[in-house]
Amino acid sequence: MLIDGHGREVNYLRISVTERCNFRCQYCMPEKPFSWVPKENLLSFEELFLFVKVAIDNGVNKIRLTGGEPLLRENLDGFIKMISDYKPDIDLALTTNAYLLPQSAQQLKDAGLKRLNISLDSLKADVAGKIAGKDVLGQVLKGIDKALEVGLKVKINMVPLKGINDNEILDIMEYSKAKNIKVRFIEYMENAHADQTLKGMHGKEILSKVKERYTIRALGREGASPSFNYLIEELDYEFGLIDPHKHDFCENCNRIRLTAEGNLIPCLYFDEALSIAEAVKKGDIEGASKVLAKVLKDKPKENRWSEEELEDREISTRAFYETGG
Ligand code: SAM
Ligand code: SF4
Repeated sequence: MLIDGHGREVNYLRISVTERCNFRCQYCMPEKPFSWVPKENLLSFEELFLFVKVAIDNGVNKIRLTGGEPLLRENLDGFIKMISDYKPDIDLALTTNAYLLPQSAQQLKDAGLKRLNISLDSLKADVAGKIAGKDVLGQVLKGIDKALEVGLKVKINMVPLKGINDNEILDIMEYSKAKNIKVRFIEYMENAHADQTLKGMHGKEILSKVKERYTIRALGREGASPSFNYLIEELDYEFGLIDPHKHDFCENCNRIRLTAEGNLIPCLYFDEALSIAEAVKKGDIEGASKVLAKVLKDKPKENRWSEEELEDREISTRAFYETGG
């Protein structure tokens, strides 16, 4: 079992397989970064897998592949199969913008993928296009349908932004309910890479929008999940709110993150990271385990999004497209 320096059990590894992306979401990567990580610095799937085995052998039982856009990385299904063959009962999930799902969903499912989280910020083609920097809606909706058709479990992620998609919270919820999938509203997390003019909606404001039409009942957090669940009584439908600005958000944090070049990151907010690259390139299991132990020991107690006076401090410089969100 992996325990961090604050006594929390860590059993969840998120792996960003590429920082590259085919979207330019305003809250994540509004412009192409000045430079990408050179291809030769990326860890191969074999090297990433060595670390995955160390993590699983020490108690990790949930892995999420993310990015950037993970479906841009060639042979992703091969990597999924390696993990799934090693531990068939692992909770293996992927977060994607769904653009490439129509042609890849079946392969992912066949390789052993169980669940998908799909980002859907608008059901209006012009708004979705404005957020993602290109015309994406038709393809994303096709991707969602294809994932459901092949039997993958799907959740929707929406980031509500003031003046952009804040009037679509109920529409996205009703769309998700109609498809029998859960939606989670994610508070916009301020970071130096996003479009600095954006204003996210706070959890309370998101809930007020839902309450304009429905009666909701708080259900609470699901174990260590970052999502606080609510029930809409009229629809008998559950949705989630991911509210990193709330003070208790980090209390049960169970996750660490690995980037495509091998940086092991203890917290999404902070820049600190240690590299496993040298160890995995040498096939050094003990070396990789030592880096893991050090990252766990130094995992921060909480993020700084929860602090009231955002204006008074520097904002996070961690790029979501690098860490995978
Ligand atoms: N490309 C994939 C996607 O968009 O789903 C996976 C990577 S993306 C970085 C993972 C998640 O982070 C997405 O649900 C996205 O909406 C979320 N995200 C990115 N930037 C964010 C921000 N500044 N605040 C809140 N969520 C953010
Ligand atoms: Fe790409 Fe996902 Fe970031 Fe959008 S949120 S730019 S789809 S990595």
